[in-house]
Amino acid sequence: MANQEAFKGSVSVTTEHIFPIIKRWLYSDKEIFLREIVSNASDAIVKFKRLVSLGETDAPDAPGRIDVVLDAEQKTIRVSDNGIGMTRDEVDRYLVQIALSGALEFLEKYEGENAAESGIIGHFGLGFYSAFMVADRVEVFTKSHTGESAVTWDCNELGAYTITEGGREERGTTVVLHLNEEESEYLKEERLRAILEKYCAFLAFPIYLSVAGAEAKGTEAKEEVPVNDTEPLWLKKPADLTDKDYEDFYHKLFGYDSEPLFWIHVNADYPLNFRGVLYFPRLKHEFASMEGEVKLYYNRVFVADNVPEIIPEYLLSLKGVLDCPELPLNVSRSFLQNNAYVGKLSAHVSKKVCDKIVELSKNEREKYESFSPDLKPFLEYGSMKDEKFLERIKDVVLYKTTKKTFVTLEEYLDAAGEKTVYYTTDPVRQSRFVTLLEEQGKTVCVLDSILDTQYLSFLEARDPDLKFLRVDSGAEALAETEGETDHAALRDAFSGILPEGVKLAFAHLKNADTPAILTCPEESRRMADLMRLYRMQKEEDLPPVPKNEVLTVNTICPVCEDLCAIADQEKRTRLAKQIYYTALLTARTPEKEELEAFLENNLELIRDAMA
Ligand code: ADP
Repeated sequence: MANQEAFKGSVSVTTEHIFPIIKRWLYSDKEIFLREIVSNASDAIVKFKRLVSLGETDAPDAPGRIDVVLDAEQKTIRVSDNGIGMTRDEVDRYLVQIALSGALEFLEKYEGENAAESGIIGHFGLGFYSAFMVADRVEVFTKSHTGESAVTWDCNELGAYTITEGGREERGTTVVLHLNEEESEYLKEERLRAILEKYCAFLAFPIYLSVAGAEAKGTEAKEEVPVNDTEPLWLKKPADLTDKDYEDFYHKLFGYDSEPLFWIHVNADYPLNFRGVLYFPRLKHEFASMEGEVKLYYNRVFVADNVPEIIPEYLLSLKGVLDCPELPLNVSRSFLQNNAYVGKLSAHVSKKVCDKIVELSKNEREKYESFSPDLKPFLEYGSMKDEKFLERIKDVVLYKTTKKTFVTLEEYLDAAGEKTVYYTTDPVRQSRFVTLLEEQGKTVCVLDSILDTQYLSFLEARDPDLKFLRVDSGAEALAETEGETDHAALRDAFSGILPEGVKLAFAHLKNADTPAILTCPEESRRMADLMRLYRMQKEEDLPPVPKNEVLTVNTICPVCEDLCAIADQEKRTRLAKQIYYTALLTARTPEKEELEAFLENNLELIRDAMA
């Protein structure tokens, strides 16, 4: 019987080099071979189930399952499925022709490129032949659902194969990888489990990992536990899920190190098909990095973490999963960047996130406020990165006030009746100014992160009428009268005592108990802050930026009035100095020389008082 004889072939002369290339190629990502073989097994079961549901097969149905058996002695990994199986013709067509041409096409496309550098996402497209990255011989035992006799395909690393009849009793396929000597790391159960947990954790059929011979040695039959969760949360209906379900899923994926604040279950069928759950993690502390982790799946199969070509960068500060079964993944990263589908997908994901945030802010304000400290960095960052994101959420960004309330920019401006926002970067250090402003009925926002500072400049640049003023940026808001006022006697008292660069001004401050305040114009301070940052980064000794500070002396303060009346020139100077230093210490941390001058003056005053 001719059929029973071994058929010998070679996958093709033109492709004789493919095997060595595959073997050397994806050096860093070799482990994906298991993902490829196991997802083929899963696909084969799906195909069989489809035939069953269409009534197109007579083969009896059975629960789908995939077995991965490690045999360290034989140096094999065996992946079995009870899927659709293949006939002899199909082995020839699918494995020899289609799979090979797919792998070839893939390799040709990226020929000469360094896989790690060109960052081919997840290395999709290499398929079945990725087995030869780790194996020097691959056997396939398969029996088709059609009832045709089983076939065995046995291929070596040079691409020479034989096809014989038989080799498998049941419907389905078994792929046996004979690992080559250098790949002994894959002969460890824990390594295989880790790979399966990474890539196949959510495949639709249970995957059982076992070690050959272990059964014989083991005394009791252990209950089989699949490696994977066949019903990933993101594919379920949100209505069927509890908060605990979401939290458990979060911990399963990301450990117990952090807590989710809230989450968004994205569920889109049309026009784009993708699903996922994005969690907003609680920031552990003020300076915690916003680095998140968004796992990208392609039809339940893990592709890669944090793929900025697909997910907008600012969303990568979230944690979660996105399953995008329609993504073109057998393309390079640079292609993805300009791909219209990817652009739409990423815009859509961003929109869903914004919708949820806006909805939360409208319907659950209290809860939303409690999330605000953790959410604000994300909103600010996203706004600066993406115009559309900004447009959607700008009205719901909450600013915390010194009174521990939360207001949106709109609410703030409406209440203020002017387009100026007063803020503090340090409510304790700047408390005196905060109090003075609050006495005038102003609300003060706490904007204390570097991101806040960038964000407010960003908002100002977009709206020329909008102004953010730090509480210590000027006396205007605290003065009764506008414009310059002069006061000859006070000018006389303060003449010669102010350091160079500090301007003297007078005002009728509303708080009569404040003799003077030292302020620094918003622009000058921002410039100085910027230079300080720059200097920190460059570690360069740049000359200090002039502060342009202004001492505004309060003309209606009784202390100031009394000061003018002091005849003793020396005493008057000392007291004027003390007023200046008090204002300085109220405004900012003094420089070393300033502190020393203050202490000296203070001591003189104590002596005066004792005399
Ligand atoms: P892809 O899965 O992307 O089609 P592969 O190279 O991984 O490409 O596989 C090529 C083909 O070989 C599959 O499309 C399928 O028809 C067949 N095949 C591979 N593994 C199996 C299996 N376990 N059971 C049935 N058919 C399989």
